[in-house]
Amino acid sequence: MKKILIKNAYILFGKELQIVQNGSILINEHGMIEDVSISKRSPEKRGNTITNSVYKDNKIDIIDAEGFILLPGLINSHVHIGDSIGKDISANSDLNQRIHPQFGIKKTILERTPRSQLMQMIRNAALSMLHKGITTFVDFREGGLEGINLLQNAIEGLPIKKIILGRIDFNINDKDAKTTTRFPKNGKDFESKSKTLGNPNVIEENDIINQGSKIIENCDGFGISGANENTNEMLRLYNKIITKYKQKQIEWKSHKKDPVVAIHAAEAETAVMESIKNYKKTEIERTVNTLNPDIYIHVTNPTNSDLQLLYQKKKKIVICPRANGVLGTGFVPIRKMLEYNFELGIGTDNVMLNSPDLFREMDFLIKSQRAVEKDASFLDAKEILKMATVNGGKIFNLNIGSIEKGYRADLVFIDKYDLDLYPIHDPHMSIVHRCTERQLKAVMINGNFVLEKTAIR
Ligand SMILES: [Zn+2]
Repeated sequence: MKKILIKNAYILFGKELQIVQNGSILINEHGMIEDVSISKRSPEKRGNTITNSVYKDNKIDIIDAEGFILLPGLINSHVHIGDSIGKDISANSDLNQRIHPQFGIKKTILERTPRSQLMQMIRNAALSMLHKGITTFVDFREGGLEGINLLQNAIEGLPIKKIILGRIDFNINDKDAKTTTRFPKNGKDFESKSKTLGNPNVIEENDIINQGSKIIENCDGFGISGANENTNEMLRLYNKIITKYKQKQIEWKSHKKDPVVAIHAAEAETAVMESIKNYKKTEIERTVNTLNPDIYIHVTNPTNSDLQLLYQKKKKIVICPRANGVLGTGFVPIRKMLEYNFELGIGTDNVMLNSPDLFREMDFLIKSQRAVEKDASFLDAKEILKMATVNGGKIFNLNIGSIEKGYRADLVFIDKYDLDLYPIHDPHMSIVHRCTERQLKAVMINGNFVLEKTAIR
């Protein structure tokens, strides 16, 4: 591709989303941001680094971005697009009734839907995210290796970036989780293997390690349902698989990114209580030393010592406020989290429960938190916008989510003269609580326009 110069742009620049009224962005042939000028001067004026390099190289596309606000591409840090077939089924049921991995209605829906239909709905959900400015999504993928392949096939050819966190496809009953030390067979992936073993009802540790290693080789890490559905031994085994895999990567001098491990925790108060009842520990206390994940999803109902533990162990947190709202699991204790200086990521969670729309997520978050805290100054809009951009890039350790040198050119173009936005006095606030898919006019990924509702060039 040609180099691109975007000029006359109103940019939310860098990791602090600094407002730049008239800047320019130079994108190199590989879709990376090579330089950003935050000078108010016209980029044609002398002394501007971008202009100098542009003049040296006339093989360049120039885009006049007058009229647009440029944001970093949004990062949906937690979603399950695999259940997008089940939108609003049993919409008034609770968390376990709807999405529990063993007995939730979700499981039945997924088992009974033809593969082709699941794939079409997954593709639709990915396209929907793209239309809402989401350039990267992080999916919790069920169904073992087969589930990962299904997702990859479903979104083949779409430009949206994905981080897939798979899991080993079996669970045991909560009751058994406390006492069992072996691994009962009830997952498809183990059917053929277990026949070769003496006892058809258990799976040997090595089979699980092999299965887990295959999953890790084919995706970006593990996304584990929850602590209560796993034995301590199983949680340790996930950790063992990751450690082994990382060692191998070092031996092979591989440049592949380290796998990510994430788990849902403290989503519902009932799950925390159940964990304390069965293990004398909260889900977070129990998993932090066994599984040792990088990221905790939800953390809606943590104890004070949970938050302290997460802080001490330098864990990352991704919140899903609207999913908590629709399932009635509570408000995320944002004030406490911010006191600990957590840089939170944000996700839209199951498409079955919630639309994959970060504009709605941000709007809900700021208003619900101000209402619950009875404080109009609580939670700066810029901090929320960072959750959907910069913080996602930091959490997953990728050069995305920020408009600055060395980052991927993933950009969202917002119409600043739109009926609902103009005149803009506080761009962070206006984007967080007024912006919708309608004001979004174009999306760029790796320097290519992947969506253009208005001719930008
Ligand atoms: Zn989830």
